[in-house]
Amino acid sequence: MNVDIKTPEVRMMNSCYNVFGRLLEGLAVRFASIVFCAFALTFASAEEPLLEFIHTGFENASPLDWEIDGEGTIIGRLVYDHERSSPNRANGHWHFEIQAPEKSQWTVILENFDNVWNGKKGSPLCDRTACFVSNDGQQWRPIETEVIEGNRLRFNVKMEGNRLKVARLEPYRLSDLDRLIEKIESNPLVEIQKVGKTVAGRDLEIVRIGDPGATHRVLLRARSHPWEPGGNWVVEGLIERLLRGDTDAKRYLSQYCVYVLPIANKDGVARGMTRFNLLGKDLNRNWDRPADPELAPENRALETWIESMIARGQRPDLAIDFHNDNNGRLHISRPNIELAEYLKRMKRFELLLREHTWFTEGSTGGNFHNPGSFGEGLLERYRITAFIHELNADWIAALDDYPSAKNWKLYGSQLCDVFYEYFEGNSSE
Ligand SMILES: [Zn+2]
Repeated sequence: MNVDIKTPEVRMMNSCYNVFGRLLEGLAVRFASIVFCAFALTFASAEEPLLEFIHTGFENASPLDWEIDGEGTIIGRLVYDHERSSPNRANGHWHFEIQAPEKSQWTVILENFDNVWNGKKGSPLCDRTACFVSNDGQQWRPIETEVIEGNRLRFNVKMEGNRLKVARLEPYRLSDLDRLIEKIESNPLVEIQKVGKTVAGRDLEIVRIGDPGATHRVLLRARSHPWEPGGNWVVEGLIERLLRGDTDAKRYLSQYCVYVLPIANKDGVARGMTRFNLLGKDLNRNWDRPADPELAPENRALETWIESMIARGQRPDLAIDFHNDNNGRLHISRPNIELAEYLKRMKRFELLLREHTWFTEGSTGGNFHNPGSFGEGLLERYRITAFIHELNADWIAALDDYPSAKNWKLYGSQLCDVFYEYFEGNSSE
């Protein structure tokens, strides 16, 4: 029989040991914890700087889910734009701010580039996908990127301060347009006309540069797809050139007047979306019929303006819709109408681009046909010489340089001569 007999003294000694012993054990554990934490913090600050935040709460920032993986890499999951009544979805825009200690270095991997276009899978990435970074959101510099397994994009950044903005291309925001308008609106050669509203109720404007009584009229549209800021920089360069007030500017404006819808998809640009408007409509589609005023009020506004110009006997002679892609060609769409004259003009326009600008990318040929796109729709419905001008978002071959805002503004200024020569040679326009 094994009986545990404890005298009152033994019980008291046991009890004292328990209280005292636990206290000591507790202190030892706490001491060890403090030492470990201090070591861990020292180690972490030396080897693994703390990412403070990924900020996406500003104008044109892209919706983004993010985390740090086990190796300290920032994983950013972009949020797709979806098209209405369609399996199509698109990602291609990113714009966010890394908040982390100065001089820390980060590897970033972006995910969710499994786009669906015309019902088929596609990716916006290529082996030369450009990416830009900026300390202040104004001055941007290009960085190298790499497409890695799983259709993901990887790049490295170094913090020069404790804030670093990262974007697909140099952003052109609504505030950039406001800044431009503020600068030019008092010029007697400029008129800003409100032509309608976006789905969210933002004002859409047509900016007129020049004399409405000039012999020829050019209509330019930019930014129907929010991820594509190239056209905005081009039209800004063109507007600044036309308003310079020198002999050449006077010569240009004696011959043609330019009308610009600078940001067609303002809601998408403000919210950092990729392609569609807030109700899932592609503003470069359905131009073969009247726009739905509820679902695509942005297109309805432009259509109404075009029809009023035609009714006043001021049909635009030329219309260009600027976009970005990985090729940078002119999209000459061929609807089922008499095209000989149109194709002749497009050929001449391309030659003039090659002569007066850095354009070398060429045009779509053969039977290229993009039903419902802006160019084809305006040609078919309104008999306007219209086309899509893609701008290469990754590389400018002739300049051997990245597609920076500076290079696109240069292109815009060079277009002034192209338009002039085009109309000089098209007296029948
Ligand atoms: Zn586009």
